[in-house]
Amino acid sequence: MNLDLRTMMVMLAVLSFLFSLLLGVASLHARGIQGLRQWSLASLFISLGFGVAYTQLTPGNGWAVVAGAVFLAAGSALQLLGIQAFKEQPSQWLVLSAVVTLVVTQTIWFTIVHPDVQLRATANSIVFAALNFACARALLISIKTPERTAYWLTGSSFALLAISYSLRAVSILSAPANSYGLYNPLPINPVMFFMGSVTHLFLTFGFILMVNYRMAAELENLATTDSLTGAWNRHSLELKFQSLLARSMRHQETLSVMMMDVDHFKRINDNYGHQAGDEVLRQLIINAKMEIRRDDYLARYGGEEFCLLLPATSEEEAEDMAERLRLSHTERPVHWRGTWVSSTISIGVASSEHIGLDLFSLLEAADTALYRAKQTGRDKVVAFSTIQ
Ligand code: GH3
Ligand code: MG
Ligand code: MG
Repeated sequence: MNLDLRTMMVMLAVLSFLFSLLLGVASLHARGIQGLRQWSLASLFISLGFGVAYTQLTPGNGWAVVAGAVFLAAGSALQLLGIQAFKEQPSQWLVLSAVVTLVVTQTIWFTIVHPDVQLRATANSIVFAALNFACARALLISIKTPERTAYWLTGSSFALLAISYSLRAVSILSAPANSYGLYNPLPINPVMFFMGSVTHLFLTFGFILMVNYRMAAELENLATTDSLTGAWNRHSLELKFQSLLARSMRHQETLSVMMMDVDHFKRINDNYGHQAGDEVLRQLIINAKMEIRRDDYLARYGGEEFCLLLPATSEEEAEDMAERLRLSHTERPVHWRGTWVSSTISIGVASSEHIGLDLFSLLEAADTALYRAKQTGRDKVVAFSTIQ
């Protein structure tokens, strides 16, 4: 394959510039998602790096080579900073500034002070391999799908770049002395640039895909959960209820339902303020989530009332769990602006073994049991079957 290095350099510079614009535009519309601005700037720097390198006809101006290397190093470092920002992790900008400084120093040394193209290319390739390896490591992690697909696609591209740079370092170092130059036909150069162009394309699509999946996940989260407590919302509860009813019918399992309500919650709001009340609800859900099983489904039914669906659970087992929830809530008062706000909850339990597998009847029965708990003193658990 006869690949012309300078054509590819121009292509890569223009492509990177367009990617920079694309990522910049995407950053305007992805509010709340970090990292896009760094990636956009990274692409711009990479574009400038290749642009500057293109202007260097052999033997060229040494300072332009330095500028080209610095742009590329800064671009690579910004890609890693963008990944860290996207993952909402602390940014290692100090370490990365040191890495860019290293590239500046070694490029000046091997270009201006003691010119040695071979050592310069090797030293810089090692640093670029390390930067790309760090990006790959930050992305090839175990997270939930579908975000994993985008992370791994982008991470694999970085891994490929890291391998290419390592091979380049080895190949240049092992070439005969003075045989290497940016424009000589050593096969590693055109291959590197070809790989670089293709991988850069992949990387940018990978970033966009990562943002896309993140936005989809955030939208789904907004549509399905209650923003105050993080419990599922009423709409999700109804959908889940239908699917659990179907599962219970299929496997002939018992489905139990719990209705949970904070006692005299209005008084908490009146005495300590609405924010204290909100904190009580948040803490109630944190406690409850620690007690329930993976399969159980906890949703906010409305106001200070929560519904818990318990698949494959008898009424007796549900009653035991309700008692644990009640105790755990009572034992953990909320610390609010210097005072302890304690509260109790009442829970009504109903089960398909007595009611049958019907959404409306189960909810109504659990509500009736809850009402009985309220009527008979609050801070207690009542099972529907015991009030017949
Ligand atoms: P009971 O023991 O009979 O349940 O009495 P209660 O005071 O808890 O019940 P009531 O239905 O009279 O009052 C519920 C209150 O909950 C009224 C409403 O303002 C408040 N509330 C509903 N949603 C929220 C919320 O998200 N945050 C806060 N702080 N208060 C809420
Ligand atoms: Mg209440
Ligand atoms: Mg209520």
